[in-house]
Amino acid sequence: MLIVIKHPLITHKLTQLRRKDTLTRDFRYNVSEIAALMAYEITRDLPMKKVSIETPVSKCETTELSAGVVLIPVLRAGLGMVEGIVNLLPDAKVGHIGMYRDHETLKPITYFSKFPESLSDSVVMVLDPMLATGGSASAAIKVIKENGAKTIKLVSIVGAPEGVARIEKDHPDVQIYLAALDSRLNEHGYIIPGLGDAGDRLFGTI
Ligand code: URA
Repeated sequence: MLIVIKHPLITHKLTQLRRKDTLTRDFRYNVSEIAALMAYEITRDLPMKKVSIETPVSKCETTELSAGVVLIPVLRAGLGMVEGIVNLLPDAKVGHIGMYRDHETLKPITYFSKFPESLSDSVVMVLDPMLATGGSASAAIKVIKENGAKTIKLVSIVGAPEGVARIEKDHPDVQIYLAALDSRLNEHGYIIPGLGDAGDRLFGTI
């Protein structure tokens, strides 16, 4: 289940991310802004409940959000997407998960995880700007499901067809959102044309 969110503002900001000369501060700013713009679209189907309130002049029957939202950035690049979304959803809780690949077994190992208790009745957004092979995102989603999450949305900025196929195979119930679906992976696992290493560009560790 893939949705590529097309919007001129998102595409413009993504072009700034793709430029190799974009400075760390501009890269960081644009990742945050794109995440917020994507969240605006992704939250379109959030459940609402009826409420009766009073305005300064009258009673009013209206609606407000009924489900909690949990953001789970996949360390480290996912951290760059948190602030923009939290600005739109100030009550969102934030879990964290960090994975690495064991060099010998090639299996993903969780080196850190901390989640709020409310995963099972929340809408969980897993944040990872680059959906490359899909290996770490798939492993992170598995752990998040084991901790009770039922409604999961994977939010990535750039994806490769290989990563999308992996998530669709491993987690057909997870909705995938991208700002762009690129052509392919190169032999080093980088997305082509992509934007390079998102973590390094976000944190200035190039
Ligand atoms: N992770 C990145 O940061 N960039 C890629 O192109 C692939 C994986």
